[in-house]
Amino acid sequence: RTVYVNGDYVAEADAKISVFDRGFLFADGVYEVTSVLDGKLIDYDGHATRLQRSLDELEMAAPMPMEELLEVHREMVRLNNIDEGLVYLQITRGNPGDRDFAYPPADTKPSLVLFTQSKPGLSSNAAAEKGLSVISAPDMRWGRRDIKTVQLLYPSMAKMLAKAAGADDAWMVEDGFVTEGSSNNAYIVKGNTIVTRHLGNEILAGITRAAVLRFARESQMKVEERSFTVDEAKDADEAFVTSATTFVTPVVSIDGEQIGDGKQGSVAARLREIYIEESRKAAV
Ligand code: PLP
Repeated sequence: RTVYVNGDYVAEADAKISVFDRGFLFADGVYEVTSVLDGKLIDYDGHATRLQRSLDELEMAAPMPMEELLEVHREMVRLNNIDEGLVYLQITRGNPGDRDFAYPPADTKPSLVLFTQSKPGLSSNAAAEKGLSVISAPDMRWGRRDIKTVQLLYPSMAKMLAKAAGADDAWMVEDGFVTEGSSNNAYIVKGNTIVTRHLGNEILAGITRAAVLRFARESQMKVEERSFTVDEAKDADEAFVTSATTFVTPVVSIDGEQIGDGKQGSVAARLREIYIEESRKAAV
């Protein structure tokens, strides 16, 4: 597998990053995951815009202009022969000196790493038809979840809690309301209304979320961006999650309680179809 490290396309085994890099020592870094269909990138502009925002919030310099970064993504897809899968990109602050809580000087060169993962069948409906079971778990992450940092230990712990309970994922709950899934945005459907949490520091502004809500509105579905409780979710007709690599995937149970008829809901199925179709058309 060919990976990209600071300007070079190299074999996985030859990639090197300093042990003093603040990404390694402080989880001081940001990332993006862009899916690939038909060998093309889905919603690159959305991911690039969010990446720039994450960098700005952390006062970190972009290692290169976003248009050049697009060419690196494309080259990685080509070199690794990705038809369906993903490109992972990570930028960490680097570090020229000793371990220090204060940021190094602003002109410190950040580290840029990309790798790909091939996922044949990513766009197939097999997983979606089965649906996901989720558990609720307290949201114990930090207060700036709108920044896509590589600090992902609590989401990993929540995922392990889900696994231990025999479920697929966790929906995290704060002050009585669902924030989001461990690596996706969370939705419920009641009648013709789709409900998903409003944007803020409490959740990541999903790129898939933005596209799906736009398609929903264009299809005359009603969208409410507001908080909802686990009880409201259990009582919903449908539930689903969105993310770059799962598109729209139904949730069929929460804490062991079946949602609706326990099968993929029609709203989720329709949104998945529209999302994949439109994304393929717009892919770069
Ligand atoms: N929320 C969290 C916490 C995530 O980690 C992710 C994706 O990794 C998302 C939401 C979905 O974002 P996107 O649709 O941009 O993949």
